[in-house]
Amino acid sequence: MNSLILIKYGELSLKKGNRKYFEKKLIKNIRKKFNKLGIKTNVIRHQGRFYLEYNHREHEMAVSGLKETFGIVGFAPVLRVPKNMQAIREASKKLALAKLASGKPHGEKTSTAAESKLPFKVEPKRTDKSFPLNSYGIACDLGDYLLSEFSNLKVDVHKPELIVNVEIREMAYLYADQIRGPGGLPVGASGRGILLLSGGIDSPVAGYYMAKRGLIEEAVYFDSPPYTSEKARDKVVELSRILARYIPDLTLHIFPFTKIQERIKERSLPEAVTLMMRGAMIQSAHRIAEQTGALCLITGESLGQVASQTPESIRFSGSKTALPVFRPLIGMDKEEIIRTARAINTYETSILPYEDCCTLFAPLHPVVKPSFDKMETIYKSLQLNNLIEDAIERISTLKF
Ligand code: ATP
Ligand code: MG
Repeated sequence: MNSLILIKYGELSLKKGNRKYFEKKLIKNIRKKFNKLGIKTNVIRHQGRFYLEYNHREHEMAVSGLKETFGIVGFAPVLRVPKNMQAIREASKKLALAKLASGKPHGEKTSTAAESKLPFKVEPKRTDKSFPLNSYGIACDLGDYLLSEFSNLKVDVHKPELIVNVEIREMAYLYADQIRGPGGLPVGASGRGILLLSGGIDSPVAGYYMAKRGLIEEAVYFDSPPYTSEKARDKVVELSRILARYIPDLTLHIFPFTKIQERIKERSLPEAVTLMMRGAMIQSAHRIAEQTGALCLITGESLGQVASQTPESIRFSGSKTALPVFRPLIGMDKEEIIRTARAINTYETSILPYEDCCTLFAPLHPVVKPSFDKMETIYKSLQLNNLIEDAIERISTLKF
């Protein structure tokens, strides 16, 4: 393996006491990620830094893998060379060449027009204090060297477009452009959560945001054949596959919901049907959480978006679990949610036209401001407990 990427994981360093724990999770997740992608890498922990060793021909995959790993704030391809100025100068030249080749043209070699030159600065960091030059000395040496090599560079410490970072450690490390990581916390660092995953736009986005805060997720899809088609289920399987890029070890529980749904339809007031289904889903998800050791539930609800997402309705459905229900989209507009759905590649799958169970059974005039006590009386009359227990036995689980 001949290439190296320096990985930065900002937020973790804030959590002093937990740092080791987070680091371990992050390393494990990076390893899992690349195992899954089927590319050979090596993660090295060295002096509070992570480095990824990989084969350069797999550069694109390495970059996209790191972009999908929560906990990583940024990363940069890095050159590791012996600690002497000759080697360091040559490495800095490579970085400048790569930058000049990738960016807009900055004039011919002979051009002297100041505005066509690429502004750069050298940013040294000397961890090894025995190195003969201090930081200022390194900056001057490399600055002069690069200016003598490239007539299309100019020093600008205020608005550089190229920053040559040089770190003197047990070896010298040089890197230029940093690539943004997804940020957040390593998946798993905050425990386990049950994601109620429909085939819609919202719940995959909700799952993404909570994974970003370190939750490892088990998704549950309430499946109602023959009212919902196999295609609707396939859509959720595909969404899980996309989410699994961010969530190592994601599982999907397919929960047979038909009998519960029929019971609700039979015994509930029509206007309360949707809310009863929400309550039943939350109660069922709670049971799964008990079995899997999950600490919380996650839904894609957004305040006021539909009748079952008013404060009154949410109070009722939320009362069917004693666990916290995380609703990361609660304060977001649809536009904002769609923007994220596009960015994480779930949008195109979510908008495929297959109906979910809630749409099919949705009443024309659902309750918007339900009375809690009235809803509670209806819910009790449904006697769902046994149906839920039976269904739990028939769950099928997929691993991604
Ligand atoms: P989504 O876009 O996620 O489907 P939505 O705006 O359509 O959300 P609802 O259909 O009211 O909203 O559902 C609210 C939330 O309930 C969903 O975000 C999801 O978390 C959960 N949910 C709804 N239907 C299902 C289902 N069939 N299986 C699993 N979870 C579901
Ligand atoms: Mg929906």
